[in-house]
Amino acid sequence: MDYYSNQITRLIEELSKLPGIGAKSAQRLAFHIINMPEEQVEHLSSVMVNAKKQIRYCKECFTLTDQERCPICSSGKRDHQTIMVVENPRDLAAYEKTGKYEGVYHVLHGAISPMLGIGPGEIKLKELMQRLQGDVKEVIIATNSSLEGETTAMYISKLIKPTGITVSRIASGVPVGGDLEYIDEVTLLRALEGRVLL
Ligand code: ZN
Repeated sequence: MDYYSNQITRLIEELSKLPGIGAKSAQRLAFHIINMPEEQVEHLSSVMVNAKKQIRYCKECFTLTDQERCPICSSGKRDHQTIMVVENPRDLAAYEKTGKYEGVYHVLHGAISPMLGIGPGEIKLKELMQRLQGDVKEVIIATNSSLEGETTAMYISKLIKPTGITVSRIASGVPVGGDLEYIDEVTLLRALEGRVLL
């Protein structure tokens, strides 16, 4: 039996496809949206559509941006010889929040996971190796301390070592399996400062 009209059911269905939104939250959101003033709903949907249309990968570090190069890569104040490798743009944001890291980043968009069938070709690793042909002094590997993150770190360090570029890994102490974005800034800074050479 259909409790709600067709349109509401469709809205609930679409919302429940979003990550972290269960059936109950989807219902709550749907009714919230229906009760919003129409222009607010239009604003929300146009912000979503525009974000989707205009956001792309930075051509250098592959974070999400609405320009060809992100603000970090195009900044003259950053140290472009130091590259921190992170799994996703959220991890980049976590380090940026500390305000203490002056280098640039490389976003892999994932980690190597033999169990999930994600190989080196599925993440932005080739692109990292291409960047290293430029003037780079150090690569800091800041992938998560999960099994996938550690596998990826090991794989990258093996690739980079022969080039003579310094490779380091952020210190452990970052909780195992912990997503970097949930770790407080002090812990992140300590992990960065205590990084070990590979
Ligand atoms: Zn960039």
